[in-house]
Amino acid sequence: MNTKEKDLKYIMHTYGRYDVALKSGKGATAYDEDGKRYIDVSSGIGVNSLGYCDEGWVQAVSQQAGTIQHMSNYFYSSQASDLAEKLCSLTGLAKVCFGNSGAEANECAIKIARKYSFDKYGAERNEIITLKNSFHGRTVTTLSATGQDVFHNFFFPFTQGFKYAEPNNLDDVKNNIDEKTCAVMLEVVQGEGGVNILDKDFVKGIADICSQSDILLIIDEVQTGVGRTGKLFAYEHYGVNPDLVTVAKGIGGGLPIGICLCGEKLKDVMSPSTHGTTFGANPVVCAGANYVLGRVSDEAFLSEVEKKGAYLEEKLLKIDGVKNVRRLGLMVGIEIEEDAHDIAAKCVASGLLIITAKDLLRMLPPLTITTAELDEAVSILEKTLKEN
Ligand SMILES: *Cc1c(COP(=O)(O)O)cnc(C)c1O
Repeated sequence: MNTKEKDLKYIMHTYGRYDVALKSGKGATAYDEDGKRYIDVSSGIGVNSLGYCDEGWVQAVSQQAGTIQHMSNYFYSSQASDLAEKLCSLTGLAKVCFGNSGAEANECAIKIARKYSFDKYGAERNEIITLKNSFHGRTVTTLSATGQDVFHNFFFPFTQGFKYAEPNNLDDVKNNIDEKTCAVMLEVVQGEGGVNILDKDFVKGIADICSQSDILLIIDEVQTGVGRTGKLFAYEHYGVNPDLVTVAKGIGGGLPIGICLCGEKLKDVMSPSTHGTTFGANPVVCAGANYVLGRVSDEAFLSEVEKKGAYLEEKLLKIDGVKNVRRLGLMVGIEIEEDAHDIAAKCVASGLLIITAKDLLRMLPPLTITTAELDEAVSILEKTLKEN
């Protein structure tokens, strides 16, 4: 059996895959098992922020694997404490909690928000407002947090205590807030929801309401974080100070990690045995993340991200069949006239690894992508749309 046949026989069918088995890569270029070359503007859904097999990252990770690959959370780890220190000093937040994925980071934020409110106001004040069209993960609780009906199926009963407000409608958020509300949770750019960039006034308005009523503001930066939007974190575009920030995807550079950061007033909410996970703070993963963060937090690196994004947008808008581009940094949604899933599959067949979000094409290229690779990506997309 080849890779595809084995996969179809032995792996549960929770993803509809493109017809490609990837084997290796370098930068934004990947190769399949037959040696065919692809430009990758998906980065494994915003994960490979430095591209495939960045030399410094490979060295950091392999060196740590050959030094000490894992220890339990009952011991101190310099890789984890260095990463925590770096994140706190870069954001002004106070403490972090490590996990393994975006959904887990969000679970952690939800637990902290509820415990803070429980300790201070009692068990009744436990509701969290999220936004319609959001995406917060695939665990039973984060599905519940996700404000899309299609995700609230099959796995009943879902976790109670979530209410959904219209994005960019501050009155609707206000109408949903009552004495039971403990937090508001949102992505400032809804990634899976179609690269919806929230209005500044809306996000600022929510932050104001939250701070007036001791309601916690949770920003899900799982997709938008770590340089993706041209700032280290996307909330920096909005001038708000969240109480909780969740980070995953891009920070590991390709290894599984999820982090929940919290501000000063929450730093002692969690006590021993209130949360944990075996692999959280794994030193190999943290070594990779330390390396990624060191590279991405540089101002010159971040301004390159915005420059490349603007360059890409300008080229995309010139393509026949592109109706509009929604973009912040290198987080790019492309509105087209054709069916996005159909076009994406055709692009993949023509050597461009691209993804979709709702009815848009979506690009989350490695932050290190070169102009030449961007040019190549645009020209494959242009040709595919023309031939369709
Ligand atoms: C991908 C994503 C998640 C879930 O992350 P996993 O690592 O897949 O659990 C949560 N929130 C946002 C905004 C995401 O894009």
